[in-house]
Amino acid sequence: MPERPRAYKTEGIILRRRNLGEADSIFTVLSPRQGKFDAIAKGVRKPRSRMRGHLEPLTRSRLLLARGRSLDVFTQAETITPYRAIRDDLERSATALYCAELADRFTIEHADNPGLYELMLAVLEALDLGAPPGPTARYFELQILSLMGYELQLDCCAACRGRLEPVETLLSPSAGGLVCERCRAKAGAGRLLGVRAIKVLRYARNVDIAAFGEVRIDAVLANELEVAMAGVVSHFLEREPRSRHFVEAVAALPGRPNALAPEIVRSDQGP
Ligand SMILES: [Zn+2]
Repeated sequence: MPERPRAYKTEGIILRRRNLGEADSIFTVLSPRQGKFDAIAKGVRKPRSRMRGHLEPLTRSRLLLARGRSLDVFTQAETITPYRAIRDDLERSATALYCAELADRFTIEHADNPGLYELMLAVLEALDLGAPPGPTARYFELQILSLMGYELQLDCCAACRGRLEPVETLLSPSAGGLVCERCRAKAGAGRLLGVRAIKVLRYARNVDIAAFGEVRIDAVLANELEVAMAGVVSHFLEREPRSRHFVEAVAALPGRPNALAPEIVRSDQGP
């Protein structure tokens, strides 16, 4: 195997930061060619650090790194896009952080995935331009599942491949998608999805994020989609994403367009 160069350049999206010692931080970066990786920024928490502003989570930056014994080390960082409109809005930043957490948790280090990088960029750009956070998150969830090899079967029954009637249908994560009425008893747990919700999910697979942002989704439908997809994501991740509580808390703040009255949430969750 040829020896790897001591220094290398890449662009990347900062997914998350954790502090190390007095002044250092470890950043998780999603890059177009080397997938996700961790690297350390020395002295980045000192007030005069020149890299500080260029390594904020959710920033797209040009990076220069040096190979280290265990972790690589940032030697330069320069912002390409700061996504300021996301940072200035609680709901959009909560959604972007949720997508960043999924990108982190669904991947292993150094697994090349240019499609995921493009998807993450598309989501950040859409949110920055004012795309609605809820539908944007649903779009991201569906697309990242496909990229990771868990594409949901939405066109026919995931168990018997039979035709699906245009009625309320079970979405079963363990079966891998929608399940017809005959197979429902033997399919794993899931949630019943109404016809409108199924149409929205099918549409999301076939259009770009800008077109999907134009779809009119009322609060009840948004909640139905959110709960169903949350179950799917948790099934494949084998845990619940930490940032989901933050997204929910922000969405429930008074005055938010997606805030649902508590009784609607309860009746929607079924018995
Ligand atoms: Zn079936």
